[in-house]
Amino acid sequence: MSKTADVVIIGAGAAGLMCAATASYQGRHVLLLDHSDKPAKKVLMSGGGRCNFTNLNTTPANFISANPYFCISALKRYTPHDFLELVERHGIDYVEKGPGQLFCANSSKGIQQLLLTEADWAGVDLRMKTSINSVTTTADSVQLSTSLGTIDAGALVVATGGLSIPTLGATGWGYDLARQFGLDVLPTSAGLVPFTLHPELKAHLAPLSGLSCTVSVTCNGQTFTEPLLITHRGLSGPALLQISSYWQAGDELSINWLPHANNLLNDLQQLRLQHPRAHFGSWLGEQLPKRLATALINLLEEQGIKLPERNADASNNQLEALANALENWVFKPAGTEGYRTAEVTLGGIDTQQISSQTFAVKNLEQVRFIGEVLDVTGQLGGYNFQWAWASAVACAKNL
Ligand SMILES: Cc1cc2nc3c(=O)[nH]c(=O)nc-3n(C[C@H](O)[C@H](O)[C@H](O)COP(=O)(O)OP(=O)(O)OC[C@H]3O[C@@H](n4cnc5c(N)ncnc54)[C@H](O)[C@@H]3O)c2cc1C
Repeated sequence: MSKTADVVIIGAGAAGLMCAATASYQGRHVLLLDHSDKPAKKVLMSGGGRCNFTNLNTTPANFISANPYFCISALKRYTPHDFLELVERHGIDYVEKGPGQLFCANSSKGIQQLLLTEADWAGVDLRMKTSINSVTTTADSVQLSTSLGTIDAGALVVATGGLSIPTLGATGWGYDLARQFGLDVLPTSAGLVPFTLHPELKAHLAPLSGLSCTVSVTCNGQTFTEPLLITHRGLSGPALLQISSYWQAGDELSINWLPHANNLLNDLQQLRLQHPRAHFGSWLGEQLPKRLATALINLLEEQGIKLPERNADASNNQLEALANALENWVFKPAGTEGYRTAEVTLGGIDTQQISSQTFAVKNLEQVRFIGEVLDVTGQLGGYNFQWAWASAVACAKNL
C-alpha cells in the first residue's frame, strides 16, 4: 500500500494527538501513527489516575533545558488557560490540588477522551500498532517505510516522547531519528523519579514504608518544600521526585526534617529549660511521625550524636549538633529507580537546532520534533503536559 498525507505524526501521546487535531482543523490531511495498541497511555496513568493536565502558574522557570529560552515562545502562545478552556468545553470536572495544579476531579480518562474526540472531530487518520522502519527526506517531502506500506508526506512531526516507562510504549526512536539527521542528542536520564538507598540506611527506613511528612530537600542549589514519602525501596513523594531532576549520580541530598521551624536551636534551648526531665525524642515524636522520629534518633546515635536521658543534661554542643542534623541531614542516595518508574526523561534533542517558532529542524523544514523528545523537561505539577500542549499547537499552527 502506498499513501500520501500532508502531515505524518509519529506518536499518539499527549503532544502527537494535540498536534494532529490542531493541524487537521486547519485543513491539513494528517496521518497519526503509533506502534502501541492504545493512544495516550501516559495520559491515563498520569497524576495517579487523575491527570494533572496543566499548571496555571506555568513559567519558563518551571522547565529544565540546556537552552532555557527555547520554551518561552510556545508557552506564551498556548497558555494553561487555553487548555483549561478546552477542558471546560468538554465538560470535564477538575480540581485545583496544589497552587495552580489542575487535576481531573474523576479520572484521567476525561483528558484521553478529550484528545481522541478532538482528533476524531478534526478528521485525523489515527493508526495504532504501526511500526516505522525507515525515514528518508527529499528537498521538500518525507518518505516513510512503515508496516502500513510506504507513506509520502509534506511534513513529518516526531512526538515519540522520552524513555520513561518502556511498558507504556516509550522508545528511543525519536532520538535515533534525530541523530540520523545530524542533530545532537543531549545525554538523557530519568527525572521525577524515586531514590533508592544504600543497605544501611534502607535497613532503618524500609520498615517505615508508607510514612510521609513535609520536608525541605536541597541539591545543587535547588530546594523543594513538599511531602516526602518513605517506600519499601527508598524515598519518594513530591519533594524527592522534584529534586531528582536536579540530582546526578554521586551527589548528596540535604533534608531539613523540620522546615517550618524558624529557629530550631532556640526551640531546643527553650525545651531544655521548660521540660528538663523529658527527652528530646518525645518532642521530635510530636513534630514528625513517631516511628520516623525514633528511626532518626537511632541514626543520629550511629553518627555519634547521642542525646542524654534528660533534656536538662544536654550540652550546648549537643543541641547544636541535634539542630544541625535535623535541619541539614546529608546523605548519598544509592541511585534512582530509573526509567522503569520515572515520570520524565531529562535531556534529549538539543533545541539549538530546532526553531522555537515552528519546531522545524533548522535547514530541514519538513521535519519537526515536539513534546518530551526535546531537551525540555518540566518540574512536577502539570508542567510537562502544558509543554506537550504548547509545543504541539505552536508546531501545528505553522504546518
Ligand atoms: C506515571 C506518569 C505520570 C505522569 N503524570 C503527569 C502529570 O500528572 N502531569 C504532567 O504534566 N505530566 C505527567 N507525566 C509526564 C507526561 O506524561 C509526559 O511528559 C507527556 O506524556 C509527554 O508527552 P509526549 O506526547 O511528548 O510523549 P508521550 O505521551 O510519551 O507519547 C509518545 C507516544 O509515542 C509512541 N512511540 C514511542 N516510540 C514509538 C515508535 N518507535 N514508533 C511509533 N510510536 C512510538 C508511544 O507509544 C506514545 O504513544 C507523567 C508521566 C508518567 C510516566
